[in-house]
Amino acid sequence: MAQYDDTNIFAKIIRGEIPCNKVHEDDHTLAFYDVNPQTPTHVLVIPKGRYVNSDDFFNEAPEEEITAFFRTVGKVARELGVADNGYRILANAGKDAHQEVPHFHLHIFAGTDLGPMIT
Ligand code: 5GP
Repeated sequence: MAQYDDTNIFAKIIRGEIPCNKVHEDDHTLAFYDVNPQTPTHVLVIPKGRYVNSDDFFNEAPEEEITAFFRTVGKVARELGVADNGYRILANAGKDAHQEVPHFHLHIFAGTDLGPMIT
């Protein structure tokens, strides 16, 4: 497993060193709008813990933290008003998935017909 890099951009956002357009925050989770949206609604949900990617999070995080994280993803989708029409969640993990930021995050894509899943 890759070492967590405390200088990554999402670590800086969690520490408040870089601003973000916040959607939700609690003790364990932060959700904010993606700076380069791919759909009309494009939000990133991240745990505040130091997890490099989904592999790291799923295997290393305490079960209560994993459960709370996914509950928050559902809550955020409802708060965004996209739960009824639908949304897509996606996590890029590692090199082959072109993960850009080495802090685990889920993308929420919504606000339009997203079409069929391609890959
Ligand atoms: P990945 O390819 O790692 O799954 O996606 C990283 C996402 O983070 C990209 O969609 C990118 O637009 C977004 N992103 C990168 N830097 C920033 C930033 O400083 N602020 C915000 N809000 N999003 C960012």
